[in-house]
Amino acid sequence: MSYDSSNIFGKILRGEIPAHKVYEDDTALVMMDIFPQSRGHTLVIPKMPSRNLLDADPQVLSAVMPIMQRVAQALKRATGADGIRLAQFNEAAAGQTVFHLHFHLIPAYDGVPLAA
Ligand code: 5GP
Repeated sequence: MSYDSSNIFGKILRGEIPAHKVYEDDTALVMMDIFPQSRGHTLVIPKMPSRNLLDADPQVLSAVMPIMQRVAQALKRATGADGIRLAQFNEAAAGQTVFHLHFHLIPAYDGVPLAA
């Protein structure tokens, strides 16, 4: 499977569709998920086009991980969450619905069941 730039995150990265952005640099865009699984559900989207983890450039993955750590720390502070779930899906069989590499940071709250 190859990368198709017409996906919704490609459009957001090109500025063709609005998004609630919370951070952006040369490596990644960070934005709120439009259908949050919990309060504060955030997406980290590497800018370099790749379909998912299976075709991603390892250098991009190395550059994105520190961003994810900083966002997770800030998200935990900002939401008062008790934990942060990191999720990532590769291909439709695994639950991927938008075919541009992205990572979910999903705050978890004591006493609030996590989505499946
Ligand atoms: P996936 O299942 O591909 O890992 O997750 C894609 C995520 O993108 C879903 O959580 C979905 O709610 C989110 N999403 C889909 N379309 C949009 C959009 O137009 N804007 C934003 N901010 N999130 C979106």
